[in-house]
Amino acid sequence: MEKMNPDLIPITSWLPTTLKEAKRRGWEELDVVLVTGDAYVDHPAFGTAVIGRILESLGLKVAIIAQPNWRDDLRDFKKFGKPKYFFGVTSGNMDSMVNKYTAGKRLRSTDAYTPGGSPDFRPDYATIVYTKILKELYPDTPVVLGGIEASLRRVTHYDFWQDKLLPNILTMSGADLLIYGMGEQPLRDLVKFLLRGVPFHSLKTLPQTALLIDEKEELPKNKQWETFELTSHEKCLKDKLSYTKNFMHVEVESNKQFAKRLIQKVEGKTLIINPPYQTMTEKEIDASFDLPYTRLPHPKYKNRGPIAAYEMIKFSVNTHRGCFGGRSFCTISAHQGKMIASRSQASIMKEVDHITRMHDFKGYLSDLGGPSANMYQMKGIDQDICDKCAAPSCIFPQVCKNLETNPRHMTELYRKVSEHPKVKKAFVSSGLRYDLMFNPRSQHPKEDEEYVEQLITHHVSGRLKVAPEHTEDNVLKMMRKPSFEYFKIFKKKFEEISAKIGSKQEIIPYFISSHPGCTPEDMARLAAKTKALGYKLEQVQDFTPTPMTVATEVYYSGYHPYTLKPVKTAIGLDDKTKQRTFFFWYRPENRNYIKNFLAKNKMFDVAKELFGQI
Ligand code: SF4
Repeated sequence: MEKMNPDLIPITSWLPTTLKEAKRRGWEELDVVLVTGDAYVDHPAFGTAVIGRILESLGLKVAIIAQPNWRDDLRDFKKFGKPKYFFGVTSGNMDSMVNKYTAGKRLRSTDAYTPGGSPDFRPDYATIVYTKILKELYPDTPVVLGGIEASLRRVTHYDFWQDKLLPNILTMSGADLLIYGMGEQPLRDLVKFLLRGVPFHSLKTLPQTALLIDEKEELPKNKQWETFELTSHEKCLKDKLSYTKNFMHVEVESNKQFAKRLIQKVEGKTLIINPPYQTMTEKEIDASFDLPYTRLPHPKYKNRGPIAAYEMIKFSVNTHRGCFGGRSFCTISAHQGKMIASRSQASIMKEVDHITRMHDFKGYLSDLGGPSANMYQMKGIDQDICDKCAAPSCIFPQVCKNLETNPRHMTELYRKVSEHPKVKKAFVSSGLRYDLMFNPRSQHPKEDEEYVEQLITHHVSGRLKVAPEHTEDNVLKMMRKPSFEYFKIFKKKFEEISAKIGSKQEIIPYFISSHPGCTPEDMARLAAKTKALGYKLEQVQDFTPTPMTVATEVYYSGYHPYTLKPVKTAIGLDDKTKQRTFFFWYRPENRNYIKNFLAKNKMFDVAKELFGQI
């Protein structure tokens, strides 16, 4: 089959980014205009492209304003005029503050979602800035929010960058509706009603949306939903314990298949968060991935340099969405859901085939993965039990008996992809949950073994990154992560198989410092235990409190949302830097500090491991 030459693809294959491009499609006016903080990459891994393609598939005329200039005469915002139905606003694939600032609150020098990496193409709190501008220019046109930034700021939340609690993002931006989580299902229903002529502002009971009504207004009726009232925003501001308890309710509901509707009083209004849709079926998720993406950045970026986030994933395939790991510092289940929505093998192979025809594809797929690579096709054995379950994780503190963890579908998929005549190698570089591979209660040890063998023999690109995150049980428990012993088992197996196939491939472990509940003593033990395994660590990170995670609530409030017991956390820069120092025990400049700390705390065993003596 012939390679695709991107220069020969007609401009009308992308969604329009200018009025001229819209006219080339024969569109004089638009139904929906999407505004995003990222460059427009027409690829299923980029939220704006997905939303644009869904709207297009529903017969709407949709255009994209990517990275508009918010500091000039606002011509970017005006270029399409007023759309017939609504503006859709997103900060892009990341929360704009996480995108722009480091864990130390320093401005990043590059932006992975901007051509050439230029760091100055999106404002702080992009969703709010864009919405306010649109509301100023077109006060009567509804604005619908979506994407990570809006989704995870849908209720009172802690903002690390301002170091305070903020109200939900509808209150802050003035938008009319918020779609949280993955947008396909709510968007389809929203459009269905709008096309039938239902007025926008009467749509108050769409699942997976949030909106504000006047405090005195009666709650919209929906007989199927129970309603739970959260502590008001104003009380949260005054009482950290009430706030952190609030979060527990939000998380519990977002992990249920049949959640309650949440309401919260805020500044004279009532915030309504309607329950989410059920997990997407295979047919539904396939339909989203099978839309006619060019899989390329818009040609207007051609001379502006590469878009790093695109370069990273352009030869990779997302096999599923969702994550049932429930890590305390992770936002995936709050956004994509706890249950896994897996694509069919046919849909995945169709995408693999498309990639092999890309002009610069050299035969190497960089990733066959998902939020956790090895959860593909995993689900509850008895769905009725899952339907009544509110556990934040299906694998912590141990793998649930009702979870089907047989990896045979993945092994089959990996083999099938490897057999594609144009694929030399397909790597797995997304995160892996090795506790699933070495589950002591597994009912299918043979299939587990086959998967591990297939993975390590054929799908490692030299260095396999895995994330134990920590070595100490008390910290791992706080993170909702398995014991470090699982890492050791995985490492041993990895080395055995690698030796058997004569490969020099290695495991690169990834760790976090300053996670709530982690002390300098824990970090000292981490240093000793990883040194004992022969590591000088490289892949490390300081904990960043991002909106809507258990760990963030502990960081802010000092209490665990579930137990309401106090938890100590490194807050100040000094304490955080000290914790980080232990990662780099081997650097001469850190020796004295670490040695003194160990002597003072009588941690002679650690000192002996790290330095031979004190
Ligand atoms: S019953 Fe088990 S598998 Fe199902 S949702 Fe609950 S923890 Fe997960």
